[in-house]
Amino acid sequence: METTALLRQLSEAVGPPGYEAPVAELIERLWRPYVDELRRDPLGNLIARRRGSGAEPRPVLLLAAHMDEIALLVSGYAEAYGHGYLRIEPIGGIDRRVLLGQRVWVHPRDGEPLPGLIATPPPHILSQSERKKVPPWDHLFIDPGLPIEQLEARVRIGDPITFRADYLELKNRRVAGKAFDNRVSVAVVTLALAALLERTHAWDIVAVATVQEEVGLYGATTAAYGVAPTAAVALDGTFARQHDVGEDEAVALDGGPAIGVGPNFHPYLVDRLKEVAEHHEIAHQIEAIPRGSGTDAWAIQVSREGIPTALLSVPMRYMHQPVELLSLRDVERAARLLTEFIADLRADERPVWEDEHGS
Ligand SMILES: [Zn+2]
Repeated sequence: METTALLRQLSEAVGPPGYEAPVAELIERLWRPYVDELRRDPLGNLIARRRGSGAEPRPVLLLAAHMDEIALLVSGYAEAYGHGYLRIEPIGGIDRRVLLGQRVWVHPRDGEPLPGLIATPPPHILSQSERKKVPPWDHLFIDPGLPIEQLEARVRIGDPITFRADYLELKNRRVAGKAFDNRVSVAVVTLALAALLERTHAWDIVAVATVQEEVGLYGATTAAYGVAPTAAVALDGTFARQHDVGEDEAVALDGGPAIGVGPNFHPYLVDRLKEVAEHHEIAHQIEAIPRGSGTDAWAIQVSREGIPTALLSVPMRYMHQPVELLSLRDVERAARLLTEFIADLRADERPVWEDEHGS
């Protein structure tokens, strides 16, 4: 499967937190050829199992990649000269600075998506002080081009809104688009599942496209409880170096996937990931995260009695903007590392603490 075509489909799919059904349908189609079972849990997580070759009961590795994307919600209507506008609020950590002039899709519960614009008055008409400020939420509106009565008939309060951002291929195998956080990880898991068709692996692999990460890691919370895995790898994007970002705040773009190190991650799994990357000469980097990572790994680690968890991240610039940028080479390296890590897990192997002996 071509990485760029896969990422394009995933990026352009729709899936705000709590409204993930469209992207879940796409991922279900992508994963079906590679897995033995597929189901949705009551929260909406898409859960796929690929059985291992070891004797039952087999250990289970959970792979968690969130499929939701930051978005907006219709919170009300406004009218000016008979023309209809939608009031908006953010779902997840939207950066208000990037909203002005954006094109969006409004997704009515029934009916076709409506194109719209994020509308503010032109600079000529604003006062000096207004021109310098990012407008607050109650001064940001969506203009879908309809009279107020028609708008009220078609769009309901609570309907979600997503960025209308085409996938863009830049030079040097770099690409930009919306929702790379975290559809890039869904792409990595898809590529790994496809590669595992040709391989044997002892452990069961349960791949989960989680919901509602952007509003509180909720999908990973219920999936970790429901799947009750032996160990887990969460996958996400992380900050890549760029202008105005310090070296210690971010990892290198094109430096390979980042393996998280810190209290959120089990040292045994961290060491195994490093060992596999070194053995197979896969470019990778170590990312020190001295606190909760804010990713699905954080929720999974403290589920049940504690689940040994690792984090694999793809370097990404301009996170939470409709122009998130990454290197396709990093995506492919992450998929290779994940595939080799899974194929390398022995049937009798379990993550242990350094002071545990042979149990
Ligand atoms: Zn995010």
